[in-house]
Amino acid sequence: KSLQAARPEPGKMLPGVKNVIAVSSGKGGVGKSTVAANLAVALAQMGYKVGLLDADIFGPSVPKMFHVEGAQIFMEKKDGRELIIPAEKYGVKLLSIGFFVNPDTATLWRGGMASNALKQLIADADWGDLDYFVLDTPPGTSDIHLTLLQSLAITGAVIISTPQNVALADARKGIDMYQNDKVNVPILGLVENMAWFTPAELPENRYYIFGKEGVKRLAEEMNVPLLGQIPIVQSICNSGDEGEPVAVHADSLIGSAFRNLAEAVV
Ligand code: ADP
Repeated sequence: KSLQAARPEPGKMLPGVKNVIAVSSGKGGVGKSTVAANLAVALAQMGYKVGLLDADIFGPSVPKMFHVEGAQIFMEKKDGRELIIPAEKYGVKLLSIGFFVNPDTATLWRGGMASNALKQLIADADWGDLDYFVLDTPPGTSDIHLTLLQSLAITGAVIISTPQNVALADARKGIDMYQNDKVNVPILGLVENMAWFTPAELPENRYYIFGKEGVKRLAEEMNVPLLGQIPIVQSICNSGDEGEPVAVHADSLIGSAFRNLAEAVV
């Protein structure tokens, strides 16, 4: 599908939003949503006004990761328009398609329906003033990315990958999607997730389960910054299930890794 003329018309931009950061990955399951959630929380903890849009329409995970499943979403009338009021948790304004549909049925939607729903979550919601609007995009390259590129002026993209070869090959495609001359969205950098594993009883040891520094090498090769390396940590996995992103505890070892990532992005 051609990405020609994908950039939005200036009038379509959200007026109160200063920066839009698309968090992307080539492959699913590499921790894209985890990084997007923790990046948003870390930015909010640094004092920025932050919104997070779960645009991963076929696999929304923001409701669970922020423990706001089943949140009742209200509308308000503002300047003669009915606007969706985003939920808010840990200082981050949140919207997800998962608030409106049963995630099991969203997977049956046709592309057009999904794109329309997403456009509404962007343009018909009261996001207000935001320093950073973080987009958790679907894995890979899809119509949804085209919708996002057409609906918002994306400031830059952050690409998440594990160091595994099969993930790196897909990450490269993700970079190409943003970097071609038609779209021309700057790559803010790569994040190496699941970079190594350190067991609690052997704190000095690093086991490179998915390979060593593959994302670091890809960043060097593609001449883009490496924004951070996040190890495999059980608390990340647990926190995703429990609905409290680890970045909420900025002073913990793993929380500080996301704080460093947020500092590298701003
Ligand atoms: P994606 O958005 O790329 O599909 P997720 O963010 O949903 O990936 O992560 C997939 C799974 O891996 C989740 O269960 C998540 O909690 C877990 N996970 C992600 N990053 C880490 C990490 N660094 N350490 C441990 N578990 C992780």
